[in-house]
Amino acid sequence: MRYVSTRGRSDALDFEGVLLRGLAPDGGLYVPESLPTFSPEQLREMAKLSYAELALEVTWPFVDGFMPKAEYAALLTETYAEFNHPAVAPLKQLDSNLWLLEQFHGPTLAFKDFALQLLGRLLNLALARKGERGVVLGATSGDTGSAAIEGCRHGNQLDVFILHPHERVSDVQRRQMTTVLDPSVFNIAVQGDFDDCQAAVKASFNDQSFLNGKRLIAVNSINWARVMAQIVYFFYSGLRLGAPDKAISFAVPSANFGHMFAGHLASQMGLPVEQFIVATNHNDALDRSIKGGVLARQALSPSLSPSMDIVVSSNFERLLYALSGGDSAMIDDLMKTFAETGHAQIPAAIMQAAERWTSGAVDDAETVATIKRWHAQSGEILDPHTAIGVRVAEDHVGTTPMICMATAHPAKFAEAVVAAGLTPSALPSSMADLMDRQERYQVLANDVAAIQAYVAANI
Ligand SMILES: *Cc1c(COP(=O)(O)O)cnc(C)c1O
Repeated sequence: MRYVSTRGRSDALDFEGVLLRGLAPDGGLYVPESLPTFSPEQLREMAKLSYAELALEVTWPFVDGFMPKAEYAALLTETYAEFNHPAVAPLKQLDSNLWLLEQFHGPTLAFKDFALQLLGRLLNLALARKGERGVVLGATSGDTGSAAIEGCRHGNQLDVFILHPHERVSDVQRRQMTTVLDPSVFNIAVQGDFDDCQAAVKASFNDQSFLNGKRLIAVNSINWARVMAQIVYFFYSGLRLGAPDKAISFAVPSANFGHMFAGHLASQMGLPVEQFIVATNHNDALDRSIKGGVLARQALSPSLSPSMDIVVSSNFERLLYALSGGDSAMIDDLMKTFAETGHAQIPAAIMQAAERWTSGAVDDAETVATIKRWHAQSGEILDPHTAIGVRVAEDHVGTTPMICMATAHPAKFAEAVVAAGLTPSALPSSMADLMDRQERYQVLANDVAAIQAYVAANI
């Protein structure tokens, strides 16, 4: 498979190329030149597979040529054996047509583990083959950091630097990162918000001279391999609820839009999808884009769902590119206008192609009320991100099964659960002593040069 940039001004790369690269040199994101598709007959057969077996069927066409198929199959088996539930991603029924897909049974209790457990292994393998070490530089709104640190530990080829917004992630989220005392793991608390962290990472990728020739690797969802791994659970859950003979709808608590974009790819690859529902917190840039057809820069403010405190959704560009039929010149113009003015109108033809897309924004008060209400009704404690997805899904559920992505374990977000008047869920036994473990991290100013100097000094 070959991968091209959404902005059309970079050379095409193979899988190893996009795995090790992240953002394209022209500022765009890599997307596959074509997509494999599965017929209804094939999908009926795939419904019988385990999670790891299904992951092989769905993702092999993207990886083919990078490594032997049998080795890739073994890698997937090992990856998904890390999950603490035999189904890997179990479905739970919440109401007559409303389902939760529990995505929090991985090592760091959020859906990020699905992709980062695989990505870390693939990176180590690619670098070991080249006899190189790499520098991972990532920004996290809370969950990516710990999932990346856990994923990258499967091998010895990586120094890992993770930027998180100082005092804007939950205590559990911070401790899941900062209690890893491994000498090749560096946590940086940036005195800014997530978008500042993401901007510092982007700037570092654009000018890597501070690294003296070392290879910089992206683990944010701009990395294609992450999006790829996330396609699998749309098929896995959809096939269990009657696809391909029935259409399915999905509700996804969204921020950087990597999760949701993977759903779009699943539908392009043959999964029948009726509605895609994008849910945000009060940082509602995505909701405004989908409802109003504009990209508009806005200020960010902290919420009870910190993993969704983002106002610039990198992967939305991939959706716009796909819905435009691959019009990279138009995307290049659109993103340039947005970068220069903070505002851009999405062409009407794209908005028409997005008719299956719906969205909604939920503020903190409603998030808390939703947690409370579903607990009373079903006994289930939803984490705040999941509650936002469920809340928006409720407005759109009809006769089609609606799968709400339960993106994190409620124990990670005690503040919202307590605000709902409930006793916080206990951490799983593997993390029972998390709050007592020693922490190590560096607080730095929101200053790209200072961050780069710290990285260079610690490689
Ligand atoms: C990352 C994250 C999201 C948002 O996912 P995106 O792919 O960035 O849209 C939602 N919920 C939780 C718990 C997360 O960690």
